[in-house]
Amino acid sequence: MADILIVEDDRTINELIRRTLTMTGHQGLPAFSGREALSVLEGKRIDLVLLDIGLPDMEGFALMRQIFREFSDVPVICVTARDEIPDRVKGLTGGAEDYIVKPFAMEELLARVQVVLRRFHKEQSCFHIRDVEIDLAGGCVKRGGVTVELTNREYELLKVLLLNKNIALSRERLLELAWGIDFYGDDRTVDVHIRRLRQKLGLEEEIKTIFRYGYRLEF
Ligand code: CA
Repeated sequence: MADILIVEDDRTINELIRRTLTMTGHQGLPAFSGREALSVLEGKRIDLVLLDIGLPDMEGFALMRQIFREFSDVPVICVTARDEIPDRVKGLTGGAEDYIVKPFAMEELLARVQVVLRRFHKEQSCFHIRDVEIDLAGGCVKRGGVTVELTNREYELLKVLLLNKNIALSRERLLELAWGIDFYGDDRTVDVHIRRLRQKLGLEEEIKTIFRYGYRLEF
């Protein structure tokens, strides 16, 4: 999966992001200053940079310009504190693919990372879980080599679970991500679709129920 450089001087946040990315199958590489970020970029091919704008040794936007000059094909997502919000526009016009405002939920970060990786064709699109094969690029799901017929909603739900693999998602969050924010549904809707997915794919073990909360796909 993708190699993602995390430029963030707050070690706790850096580690939290790194762990979240690792859980979903990416590799997170930490850098705690602009200088460290540049040295990682010198030594390794990076697929995406998460760039905190408030850095101790250089201005975040200056660093971003330097990254674009020297490593022109690396997409950047800016991370800004709430009081730097006017800078968001500057960040986007400066060439960032997206921005995210602190504090943020990890699922939100993951969703944005996924969108940018997809835009740059750097995301993993094929997944294998036991005898189930899911090809997100082709929109195709097979079990034991045979195509599984999923409804649009079941497919969306599966996609959300996959892209947040090993992360527990509440029923409300699943409704929001797989059905859309405007959907007026209740928790039972999620339960019914999860049950069908488990049956159709034979993933009763992997799609875990989190008591009084929601679900998590583990593999
Ligand atoms: Ca900072």
